[in-house]
Amino acid sequence: MTEADDAGDAGPSNERRWSGDVVVVGGGVAGLSTALFTARADLDTLVLQDGVSILQRNAILENFPGFPAGIDPRLFCLMLEEQVERAGCGHRESRALAVTRTDDGFAVETDDGTVEATRVVAASWSDTDYLDPLDVDLVDSGSKRYVPVDDAGRTGVDGLYAAGRLAERYHQAIVAAGHGSQVGITVVEDADPDFYHDWVTPEGYFTNRGREVPKGCEEISEEERRRRARRAHDRLGTYLDEWEDETPVPHPSFVGDVKE
Ligand SMILES: Cc1cc2nc3c(=O)[nH]c(=O)nc-3n(C[C@H](O)[C@H](O)[C@H](O)COP(=O)(O)OP(=O)(O)OC[C@H]3O[C@@H](n4cnc5c(N)ncnc54)[C@H](O)[C@@H]3O)c2cc1C
Repeated sequence: MTEADDAGDAGPSNERRWSGDVVVVGGGVAGLSTALFTARADLDTLVLQDGVSILQRNAILENFPGFPAGIDPRLFCLMLEEQVERAGCGHRESRALAVTRTDDGFAVETDDGTVEATRVVAASWSDTDYLDPLDVDLVDSGSKRYVPVDDAGRTGVDGLYAAGRLAERYHQAIVAAGHGSQVGITVVEDADPDFYHDWVTPEGYFTNRGREVPKGCEEISEEERRRRARRAHDRLGTYLDEWEDETPVPHPSFVGDVKE
């Protein structure tokens, strides 16, 4: 994702404004999974990301289902970023500093201007400082601080959600991806209760049974299915062919950075 993709306007002070449906704070595994679902449901979504996913410290990701012998976690993050970008999501490399309520949602102050959204998803393991102005419940456990959520990812503040490790889910990438996706779908359903499933089905799957294609689903022809499968596999092949190995990101204590 690039800075240009987020469609933010530079204001008189050169601060970049943006307003839309959803701001996701944190572009790691959970946040990008949330954004994938909200963007695919046509909710105008912006991901704020300050720093890389903690997954980039991993040596080799061997327990994410679907990769028979594992996958390089840095390549995994790169491909997830492109997937979210293809879904139409904006992305800005900036840090969320403070979230406050507005008449119809939230304003998120960042180190690069203020952005506004109807809903905010906190997926920023392990920073909760920017939530302080909202007076949201937080739970301390040892040196860590978590944001409690209900089964669907809602916090006690209407319109504010939390996803992934920050919401005290298990510390595994597939769990963060699953929880981020669940929170994304919750956001979509809160915005539009008629939304059904984000499914792509073969032509006739619903309509040949006398049903309308539900909102959120798409029926595609056999020709289109072949085209999309070819495109998907070609793209994957290019990534695998061109990937150049990168060493893991070290723990901050090895580079004198105290941020966990
Ligand atoms: C050394 C190591 C090895 C691991 N190995 C495995 C493994 O083998 N298998 C496995 O399943 N899991 C593994 N994990 C765990 C896995 O990486 C995490 O569970 C997962 O990444 C959590 O996802 P998340 O989205 O909650 O957090 P993250 O992926 O860390 O994403 C959080 C994002 O939020 C950003 N952020 C934080 N504060 C702000 C802010 N104020 N504004 C904007 N952005 C912000 C961060 O920079 C980051 O990009 C490993 C973790 C480590 C450290």
